[in-house]
Amino acid sequence: MPRPLSATIHLDSMRHNLARARGCAPDAKVWAVVKANAYGHGLERGLRGFADADGLALIETENAVRLRELGWTKPIMLLEGFFEAADIPLLPEYNFNSAIHCIEQIKMLEYTRLTSPIDVHLKMNTGMNRLGFMPTEYAAAHARLRAIPGIRNITLMTHFANADELEHPLLTVREQVRRFQIGAEGLAGERSLSNSGGVLQQAELAAELSNDWVRPGVMLYGGTPGVRTADDYKLRPTMTLASAVIGIQQLVAGDTVGYGSRFQAAGPTTVGVVACGYADGYPRHAPHGTPVLVDGVRTSLIGRVSMDMMTVDLAPIPNARVGSTVVLWGDGLPIDEVATAAGTIGYELMCALAPRVRVHEG
Ligand code: PLP
Repeated sequence: MPRPLSATIHLDSMRHNLARARGCAPDAKVWAVVKANAYGHGLERGLRGFADADGLALIETENAVRLRELGWTKPIMLLEGFFEAADIPLLPEYNFNSAIHCIEQIKMLEYTRLTSPIDVHLKMNTGMNRLGFMPTEYAAAHARLRAIPGIRNITLMTHFANADELEHPLLTVREQVRRFQIGAEGLAGERSLSNSGGVLQQAELAAELSNDWVRPGVMLYGGTPGVRTADDYKLRPTMTLASAVIGIQQLVAGDTVGYGSRFQAAGPTTVGVVACGYADGYPRHAPHGTPVLVDGVRTSLIGRVSMDMMTVDLAPIPNARVGSTVVLWGDGLPIDEVATAAGTIGYELMCALAPRVRVHEG
């Protein structure tokens, strides 16, 4: 018998969420973002779940090559472009669309003869202050790129910092769009601005925001970037992490549970021991009260999460026994809810799923 912990990936929900993204931004083509091992779901499952996308976007060239080897013939985009000149020949060879975000990349392209034309996304820094050219430098970068033989289409691109929070006090999407329009003024080419937050807020932003390409990530995996829930947006969970109760302890008042004795029973308490710990990707800092489902009934974590196990309160499930099923997140328990309780985001939980967790599809 294998350890009862496993993750189930719901390919049909991935398809559903992609259709939701299309519904939110019907005029745009969709890059399905499959970086970080398709947000922990497995690159090949990303390819199959998002087979209807117009393109796949990710970070590492080796994974982009793998997508081609797996048979993906539609566009592939490298969200951070190439990291050294030696990688440039891969762009025409595999027909990768590369982000260009700094002058060093342009210089490398100037010194490399491209064997066939390539498409690029020229990134503007409109306030995120990670990658990209400032709006004031953008037209010059564009002209320099345009002058390089073999550069075919240049898509104009930026990335939102707070697309999930339209009224952010420090930097709004509207302000980023305003800066983008100033920087891109007079430049021809397709435009790509929105991540999941932008896609989900497209209806509210319709007057200001238009995309030829959108780049949703987390929403395709049933997570949301912000305050509203997956249910609000009719997104479905794509990963269910489930395990089982492998032991039960009866505590009396004063007994404590686990390392650090973080939980002390106030009275008789039934504790379920669940096969899942931080070495599986469950956050160690998840506090008492973080929700879990035992036999479909909501209860909560008690005590400290350890490497291979965690402990839960079985009071709401009097019939629980060794073998009772436990859902850590996914079907019936939104990953964002668990993440919020644990002081993190759904993105991190998905991506942190440990290699030792068995994964199947269903
Ligand atoms: N576009 C770019 C450039 C990104 O870096 C990311 C992720 O960080 C995305 C799109 C997808 O973002 P999200 O998962 O919030 O939709």
